Amino acid sequence: MLKTRLFAIQNVTAIYNSVRNIAALSMLPETHQMLHKTCRDFAEGELKPIAKETDKNHLYPKEQIKKMGELGLMCIAIPEDLGGTGLDYLAYAIALEEISRGCASAGVIMSVNNSLYLGPIEKFGNDNQKSVYITPFTNGTKIGCFALSEPGNGSDAGAASTTAKMNGTNYIINGTKSWITNAYESNAIVLFATTDKSKKHKGISAFVIDKPIEGLSLGKKEDKLGIRGSSTCSLIFEDCKLPKENILGEPGMGFKIAMMTLDAGRIGIAAQALGIAQASVDCAMEYAAKRQAFGSPIIKLHAIQQKIADMVLKLESSRLLTWRAAVLKDNNKPYTKEAAMAKLSASETATFCAHQCIQILGGMGYVTDMPAERHYRDARITEIYEGTSEIQRLVIAANVIKEYNLN
Ligand SMILES: Cc1cc2nc3c(=O)[nH]c(=O)nc-3n(C[C@H](O)[C@H](O)[C@H](O)COP(=O)(O)OP(=O)(O)OC[C@H]3O[C@@H](n4cnc5c(N)ncnc54)[C@H](O)[C@@H]3O)c2cc1C
Repeated sequence: MLKTRLFAIQNVTAIYNSVRNIAALSMLPETHQMLHKTCRDFAEGELKPIAKETDKNHLYPKEQIKKMGELGLMCIAIPEDLGGTGLDYLAYAIALEEISRGCASAGVIMSVNNSLYLGPIEKFGNDNQKSVYITPFTNGTKIGCFALSEPGNGSDAGAASTTAKMNGTNYIINGTKSWITNAYESNAIVLFATTDKSKKHKGISAFVIDKPIEGLSLGKKEDKLGIRGSSTCSLIFEDCKLPKENILGEPGMGFKIAMMTLDAGRIGIAAQALGIAQASVDCAMEYAAKRQAFGSPIIKLHAIQQKIADMVLKLESSRLLTWRAAVLKDNNKPYTKEAAMAKLSASETATFCAHQCIQILGGMGYVTDMPAERHYRDARITEIYEGTSEIQRLVIAANVIKEYNLN
């Protein structure tokens, strides 16, 4: 009994120490600080200048994604022997925040390739799948996508109606996946389809698929509110033949693979939201220092200072939540609740900060001459994809109820 308790205390101390060590960027290992600087410089020099056009004309930032690949940003937590950068999730969160601060579209493209596509193949793929579907996708020339949502079910992912029926040595895929980020540019897909309908969510399996492939067509590109440099569309499968070797993990493991992938992905979306929130604060501060009203800069007004305080308070608390979730994952500790808290807090913070930024800019916040309105549009999606805010609250509450042994 005493031994168990001592172990528990040691574990808590270990987690506490790691959390304490991430209290500020300057307390992080040198690798993370260098990565932060590299990403900040890249975002300032290469992403900020193209973010407006990327958004306005719905342009996929191909050149920039290629350069991000050369910097190792498209495969941060993938081991080096598979061609990855070999860093951890804390590094990923730090890098993704800086990239999204420059351009939120580049941020989501990076996040889908890192956590939603490469992540599950690295965890559940066999050696052959890893060499075919990971290594060529690490340098920014090829990217992947993740196809879970369907027209009839987004939050209720266990109700998937896309089917994969065994026929000899192949699976035959039929059904439509909707809202798939990177679908247009992607060269491969992590797909979820039902192999045994009678088992409900336990009958869902995961697959990895080359694209293009016979029997797969793409729907129209969605005309979105924000993150308009990333493509989003449906994947339509009509008798698409897939060799049985393309299953990821065992039949029936798909739902578990999807949920584990989304836990990690939420750290990425939290980081993307932090980047949008930080860009909004930067924009508001710069403008408030210059804009004169009633004979002095508006930054001197208490009403403006209250907004600045609220923005930065939410931003820095969300950043700590995000780094905590990443450190727990890096230490192989449970982090489902913490990732949901990070995503919920950071996404609502992004919307809050972008909203306040527009208010501080007044009329200039409402027009495209300034980036404030783009940050507002970009922020909104972080409260929807990879689980809406309502779903994050359910995840958090379910975990707290379990902690209290009340389930
Ligand atoms: C731009 C964009 C990119 C996307 N990228 C991808 C991608 O790459 N891959 C992918 O698979 N999917 C992707 N999605 C889909 C996204 O994950 C879903 O849109 C999201 O999970 C919500 O599902 P839904 O749209 O079907 O909403 P619904 O599930 O229909 O929800 C509608 C509303 O009901 C609420 N609600 C639903 N169930 C509950 C509940 N149990 N309790 C309380 N409230 C509830 C929701 O919170 C929401 O407010 C993307 C979506 C968008 C818009």
